[in-house]
Amino acid sequence: MELVVATRNKDKLKEIKALFKGLRVKVFSLDLFKGAPEVIEDGKTLEDNAIKKAVQVSKFLKKFAVADDSGLEVEYLDGDPGVYSARFSGKFATYKTNNEKLLKLLKGAPLPKRKACFRCVIAVADKGRAIGVAESRCRGKIGFESKGDNGFGYDPVFIPNGFKKTFAQMSASQKNKISHRSIALKKAKSIISRHLSLYR
Ligand code: IMP
Repeated sequence: MELVVATRNKDKLKEIKALFKGLRVKVFSLDLFKGAPEVIEDGKTLEDNAIKKAVQVSKFLKKFAVADDSGLEVEYLDGDPGVYSARFSGKFATYKTNNEKLLKLLKGAPLPKRKACFRCVIAVADKGRAIGVAESRCRGKIGFESKGDNGFGYDPVFIPNGFKKTFAQMSASQKNKISHRSIALKKAKSIISRHLSLYR
C-alpha cells in the first residue's frame, strides 16, 4: 500500500521516513505529486491543521496520507509560538530568525523559567476520511544560546529533560528515540497497521 506524507518540509520527511521503516507501506513525499493542493494551515490548533492536511491531500490523491503539525510551546511566553512556530518571526521567517527572536524574548529569564515542550500531532486519513489522530510531547528547556548543527527548526535551543545537550547536538537516532514526532509516529503506526489489516 502507498502512503503519502503530506508535507513539503524535507527535514520532517526525513525523520518520518526513518521512523516508518518496517511498516508494510511504500512512503511517498508530496513533492512527487504535481498539482497536489497547497493546504493553508489556518487552524487554531495543531490538531485542526494536521487533520485538514491529511484529509485534503488524501481526498485529492485518493490515497492513504499522514500529516504532521508540530510546534514549540514555551511556558514563559504563555504557550507561544505554538501553532505559529514556523512563522514566529514573520512572513520571511527562517529557523535562525525564529531562534533569535525566541532567545531575545527569554533574555534574563533564569533556567527554571525556560520550560518548554515540543508537541506533535499526526493525523491519518484515507481517501478523504480521517481515521485517527496521534499526539505526543517532549518536555525540556530553552537554552541560553543556540548550540549544535544537527536537526532543524528550534533544535539548537531546545534541551530535552534528562539531557545536558540540545536536540541539535544529538545524532538523528538519539533525537528519534525521545522526540515528540517519534512517539507520535509510533502511535500513528499502530493506527496505520490496524487500518492496513482491513485490506488483508
Ligand atoms: P509546521 O508543523 O509545518 O507548521 O511547522 C512547525 C515548526 O515547528 C517547524 O517549522 C519548526 O520550526 C518547529 N518544529 C517542529 N518540529 C520540530 C523539531 O523536531 N525540531 C525543531 N523544530 C521543530
